[in-house]
Amino acid sequence: MKQSITLKYLKQLLKHLQYYNDMAPFPVYDTEYVEEVKNKIKEMKDKNKEYDELPVVACRHCKSLHVVSDELDNAICMRCGSVNELQEFENIYKYKEFKKNKHFNLEIKKNE
Ligand SMILES: [Zn+2]
Repeated sequence: MKQSITLKYLKQLLKHLQYYNDMAPFPVYDTEYVEEVKNKIKEMKDKNKEYDELPVVACRHCKSLHVVSDELDNAICMRCGSVNELQEFENIYKYKEFKKNKHFNLEIKKNE
């Protein structure tokens, strides 16, 4: 979340810089600096995309993402304690979609 706020801020900044550079007879802001801001935005976008498209592993039972591996490479769910009971999702969006699923939420309620 923090990252997307920064990205939003940088975009606004770039808009501001470009606006004044376009309006003035000569660039008000150093064009190298403007270019730097532009590159930073691109870099952050690329990074976010990469992160968002990584596969996500969740606990098969409680769907918690808080799964850690022990020294023997067993995947242990920190929420319900299951071992090596994983479900893989294509990416975080697929996981969120799945979590939104009504049937799953009902199931959780019933078990709690
Ligand atoms: Zn679990």
